[in-house]
Amino acid sequence: MTPQTTPQARRIWVFIEQEDGAPHPVSWELLGAAQRLAAELDAGHAVVEGVLLGHQVEAIAQEAFRYGARRVYLMDDPVLAVYRNLPYAAGVSQLVQSYQPEIFLVGATTLGRDLASAIATRVQTGLTADCTELTIDPKQGILAATRPTFGGNLMATILCRQRRPQMATVRPRVLPMPEPLAEAAGELIHAPLGMAEEEVPVKRLRLIPGQQQLNLEYADVIVAGGRGLGGPDGLPLLEELAQALGGVLGVSRPLVDAGWVSAEHQVGQTGKTVRPKLYIAAGISGAVQHRVGMSGADFILAINSDPQAPIFQVANLGIVGDLYQVVPELISQVRALQGGDDHVR
Ligand SMILES: Cc1cc2nc3c(=O)[nH]c(=O)nc-3n(C[C@H](O)[C@H](O)[C@H](O)COP(=O)(O)OP(=O)(O)OC[C@H]3O[C@@H](n4cnc5c(N)ncnc54)[C@H](O)[C@@H]3O)c2cc1C
Repeated sequence: MTPQTTPQARRIWVFIEQEDGAPHPVSWELLGAAQRLAAELDAGHAVVEGVLLGHQVEAIAQEAFRYGARRVYLMDDPVLAVYRNLPYAAGVSQLVQSYQPEIFLVGATTLGRDLASAIATRVQTGLTADCTELTIDPKQGILAATRPTFGGNLMATILCRQRRPQMATVRPRVLPMPEPLAEAAGELIHAPLGMAEEEVPVKRLRLIPGQQQLNLEYADVIVAGGRGLGGPDGLPLLEELAQALGGVLGVSRPLVDAGWVSAEHQVGQTGKTVRPKLYIAAGISGAVQHRVGMSGADFILAINSDPQAPIFQVANLGIVGDLYQVVPELISQVRALQGGDDHVR
């Protein structure tokens, strides 16, 4: 179980999240960030390592190597087949105490948020949640974790000076996805969980499948609507455009607050961070809390009746007009192109 490194190795850990044997891509985004941090921290001694828990998930470790993990600590146990806070938090905390990583990054997913806070509590360290930037403070040589505060109007950089590991969560799509290596080898360290099923009071009795996952964060095309729609009746129009483009529906927060649509569609600071190839914002003013979630899009098309709307500052292309005139026209042009109608092309 002892990894072949010098005791001086400065470990940067990434939690490799998986469910039902499928790794969450935020794990790879975090491995990319961890490699940058390792270079900034101590190129000679800092080492990027993954922590993987589950049952029969060893193959995921191979993927982690391709995304830059030099070593993966694997706890493979039937007790870990389904995520439950107690055995996962106990298992990871055990590893933290044994190997004493300096930095520990976790995806700010539903699972990751639940787990990271439990680990931080168990090992009595600080946790900076929902970071948008991670660097090494050059003077102090420790993690500088930046996140929005005061309703997104200020960015705060938080240092954890006394406790270890320095923990941070980052939402999916906030960090760029690194290119995986075609082939890579790493060291696999098997670690026992040491907890029997009888010790876990929470049981999964049955699984009630939810609706199909929307996967807004990883969509290539998003057609998003805002309060400019005037009411929920406008949403099917945007859904039609999204469908024509093979995309999904996004919204600004007031639509969720008003109960027009479920929160899984919300883009922004308190919603999802997205990086689509095309983001169409219709009737969205472009408040900073919305922009922080979508400004990483490759191409932004904004449709707004107010030429002064801030959304135009981040848009690659802007159409000043009533969305109820512009969107139907876009739908018919897209459909005509798909139907091979020459005179439209
Ligand atoms: C702590 C905090 C967190 C927040 N988190 C989020 C978040 O995650 N996501 C988010 O989106 N917001 C968030 N907000 C809210 C944010 O500040 C804005 O209030 C919100 O984004 C505004 O939504 P909107 O652009 O749809 O509405 P508005 O600001 O009301 O804009 C509507 C726009 O529609 C245009 N319009 C009107 N009619 C038409 C028409 N017929 N055709 C075309 N254009 C038209 C108007 O010119 C206007 O620009 C947060 C706020 C706080 C304080």
